[in-house]
Amino acid sequence: MTIFEKIIAREIPAPLLYEDEFCVAFNDANPQAPIHVLIVPRKVIPRVGEAEAEDQATLGALLLAAGKVANQLGIKDISKGFRLVINHGRDGGETVPHLHVHLLAGRPLEWPPG
Ligand code: AMP
Repeated sequence: MTIFEKIIAREIPAPLLYEDEFCVAFNDANPQAPIHVLIVPRKVIPRVGEAEAEDQATLGALLLAAGKVANQLGIKDISKGFRLVINHGRDGGETVPHLHVHLLAGRPLEWPPG
């Protein structure tokens, strides 16, 4: 069971900022920006490149949830803004094998990323 499955099952406490039938969102335990939220599908898809056609609704729900969370946090306006990141595999920086979207905001984010 991944750490995120335990959070979704409420075995590990983590206040949820958002939830729907497809996904949940909660604060990252090691934030890389003033706002750092993880949006995690209830279905365990290990990483984005392993999603299947049947996961299309789940994948779409993650991005729709990101917009809703951004709106909730007051960062949707383009005068503020946010970045979404999905890490896949070693070079991508993946550490938890349960697909998740990082939502980062609250400071200007550099490009290209490190
Ligand atoms: P990644 O490196 O893309 O796989 O991202 C995994 C993220 O999960 C990291 O940013 C971690 O800080 C975060 N993380 C790990 N354990 C927890 C936890 N129990 N609660 C919240 N975030 C966590």
